[in-house]
Amino acid sequence: MFRMAHPVGERQELNTQTVLYGVFGSPVMQSKSPLMLNRAFAVAGINAAYAAFEVSPRNLAAAVAGIRALGFRGINVTIPHKVEVMEYLDEIDESAQMIGAVNTIVNDGGRLTGYNTDGIGYVRSLREETGFVPDGKRIVVLGAGGAARGIVHSLARAGAREIVIANRTANRATELAAALAAAGVIRGIGMEALPEACAACDLLLNTTQVGMRPLLGQSPLDPKLLRPQMLVSDIIYNPRETLLLREALNRGAAVHGGLGMFIHQGAYAFELWTGLPAPITEMRQIVEQSLAEG
Ligand code: NAP
Repeated sequence: MFRMAHPVGERQELNTQTVLYGVFGSPVMQSKSPLMLNRAFAVAGINAAYAAFEVSPRNLAAAVAGIRALGFRGINVTIPHKVEVMEYLDEIDESAQMIGAVNTIVNDGGRLTGYNTDGIGYVRSLREETGFVPDGKRIVVLGAGGAARGIVHSLARAGAREIVIANRTANRATELAAALAAAGVIRGIGMEALPEACAACDLLLNTTQVGMRPLLGQSPLDPKLLRPQMLVSDIIYNPRETLLLREALNRGAAVHGGLGMFIHQGAYAFELWTGLPAPITEMRQIVEQSLAEG
């Protein structure tokens, strides 16, 4: 299916053999996915092109029909379509079903299958960058939105001893814990119960928007709750170092930023689409360079 005629690492010329990919979202124009995936295809010597498509909710069904009609091999799905897109696909992978959201679509001859690579990408990044293994660990997750769903599911599947989801809107945390109960020991709490949960945790993880624009320079919790024995992780990657991570470093804790999750969710998608290992080093390098240039 793929042509490997070009020297590895060189940008391909588009032609009639070019295999098409993209990301559907709204807003999507700030996305680093086209930069990252086009670099990955070029490094792997694959004749492919990846573009960003601004798709409004009312056009989502037509856009998915377009995947089949135009023969796109793969599509990433981002905010606000990760849940709604599921109703237009032919099959949903078991994990994505439990998570309740899809961020990657694979087109096999017109048959569309949905996957979720966010959580598994997070766990892979955590292991690679910090050596943290979830098995047997106590974990506190701040936030109960879309990103938390995939991450909590993957951490539970990786053997976490207990996961506590703490959220500003407490009932969203308890609902998410109940929805993922089959994956492991998970409970939801309001922010007032956070001190007790933090006293016993090995990993504290922020999945809220607190720390990025327009909440830049804010932290999702009182820094007094941070302890040197904890690993503190933030899935925000712009800025690379949030106030939460700075405060954690000040208190002697180890930290883990969000860029690795972004790289690895894209790497998993690349692997689902091509069956080849993703060139992670080069993918990371081009995204880091773009973030540094602002
Ligand atoms: P979402 O579904 O809208 O969920 C947002 C969560 O943040 C909710 O739990 C919400 O609490 C909480 N929240 C928002 N504003 C808050 C505030 N001012 N104070 C306290 N809590 C607040 O969003 P999402 O899709 O999960 O994304 C969340 C973050 O993850 C974003 O910053 C996004 O950029 C990042 N992300 C990173 C990656 C990556 O690859 N690194 C991937 C996906 C997402 P309530 O329920 O109380 O509203």
